[in-house]
Amino acid sequence: SFPAEAVPQAPEDPLFGLMAAYRADTSDKKVDLGIGAYRDDSAKPWVLPVVKKADNIIHSDPALNHEYLPIAGLQSFTSGAAKLILGADSPALTEKRACSIQTISGTGAVHLGGLFISKFYPGTPTVYFSNPTWANHNQIFSNIHIPIATYPYFSKSTKGLDFDGMKNAIADAPDHSVILLHACAHNPTGVDPTQDQWKELAVLLKQKEHFPFFDCAYQGFASGDLAKDAWAVRYFVEQGFEMCIAQSFAKNFGLYGERAGCFHFVTGPGADSQKTIGRIASQLTVLQRSEISNPPAYGARIAGLVMNDEALFGEWEDNLRTMSGRIITMRKALRSKLEELGTPGTWNHITDQIGMFSFTGLSEAQVLKLRDVAHVYMTKNGRISMAGLNTGNVDYFAKAVDKVVR
Ligand code: PMP
Repeated sequence: SFPAEAVPQAPEDPLFGLMAAYRADTSDKKVDLGIGAYRDDSAKPWVLPVVKKADNIIHSDPALNHEYLPIAGLQSFTSGAAKLILGADSPALTEKRACSIQTISGTGAVHLGGLFISKFYPGTPTVYFSNPTWANHNQIFSNIHIPIATYPYFSKSTKGLDFDGMKNAIADAPDHSVILLHACAHNPTGVDPTQDQWKELAVLLKQKEHFPFFDCAYQGFASGDLAKDAWAVRYFVEQGFEMCIAQSFAKNFGLYGERAGCFHFVTGPGADSQKTIGRIASQLTVLQRSEISNPPAYGARIAGLVMNDEALFGEWEDNLRTMSGRIITMRKALRSKLEELGTPGTWNHITDQIGMFSFTGLSEAQVLKLRDVAHVYMTKNGRISMAGLNTGNVDYFAKAVDKVVR
C-alpha cells in the first residue's frame, strides 16, 4: 500500500502565503507589492480593452464550440506567437527552421522545454540560471531531474548587473551547458543586460557551444515596445544559434488565468534544418500528449485574434503602452519622492530597472518592519511589484521606506 502517512508537509509557496497575509490585513492603508500582476491606478485588475473587444468578437460567432484544440494548439495563435517574438521577417521563419507548440502559459513552456532537454539533449547538461531568478525555475528543472547551477547576476553594491560575475560563471560552465536567460524585464531584479552586453554574451555562448534557453514573460510589457523587448532573442537568432524560447502571454495580454503560452524551438541554419525541426516538432507533440493532451482554448483564441488583425494589434500596442507607461511613471515618482525625503542610500536603480519588478535593496529585516508598521506587503528579498504602486499610495510607501531605512 501507499505509505500516505509518510508524506511530509510541504512548505507554503512564499508568494501565495504573502497574498493570504495581505488579504487578512484589515488596515485601509495596506499596500500589496507582492503580486506579479498588473494593477491600474486604483489598484484594480485591468482587463485590456482590446481583450474585451476580442472576447466580444469571439463570442458573437454562433459556431463557437468547446471542441479540443489540436495537440500543438491553435495554429493561428502559435504562428502569431512565433512572429511576435522572432519578428515576421526572422530568418528562422523564412527558412522554416522554427517550430512552435502552445503551452500552459510560460510555466508550461519552461516545463516542456525542460522535459524535451531531459529526453533529447546529449549527455546530462546542467541548466544554469541567474542568481536570483524566478523561483519556479528551480522547481521546474529539479522536478524533471535536470542538474541545476547558477550564475551571478545581481550586484548588491550597484543594484545593477554583475556582468563580470555572470560572464565568468558562463565561461567556467562545461561546454554545451544550457543557459537560461530572461529575454527582458528580469524577474525578480528588473535588471537586464544592455545590447552591447547581450552581444558579448552571444560571443561567449557561441565559444562555449552553450544552448540558450530564453524565458520571455514580459514582451511589450517592459518597455511598451514589442520589438525592443524581443531584441535579445532576435539578436541570438540572427547569430545563428540553435535555441529555445518559453513565451508567456500572461502579462502582456493580462490573460494570467487563461494560461496562454507557447514554446518555440529554433534550429541553426543549414541544409537539414527543415527536416530537423520537423522531427523536433513531432517529439514535442508526443511529450505534450502525455502531459496535457491539448492546451486550453480561450486565451489562445483571444491572443490569436488580436495578433492576426492589424487594427486590434494596434490597439493592443496602445494598451501595452498604457501598462508600461504607468509603471515607468511610478518608478519616477518613487525615486523622486525618496530623493526628496533624503532617504539614505541611492535610488537611481528604481528608474534604471525595468518591467514589473524592482529589487529595492531593502533587507529582510526592513521588509518585515514595513509589513509590521506600515502594512506594506513585499517579498523578503526586497522585491516590489511596481504595479502595486499608484498615485494614491506611492508617497505613503516612500515615507514608510524612509522610516525603516533610517
Ligand atoms: N518566467 C518568468 C521569469 C516569470 O516571471 C513568469 C511569471 N511570473 C513566468 C515565467 C511564467 O508565468 P505564467 O506561467 O503565468 O505565464
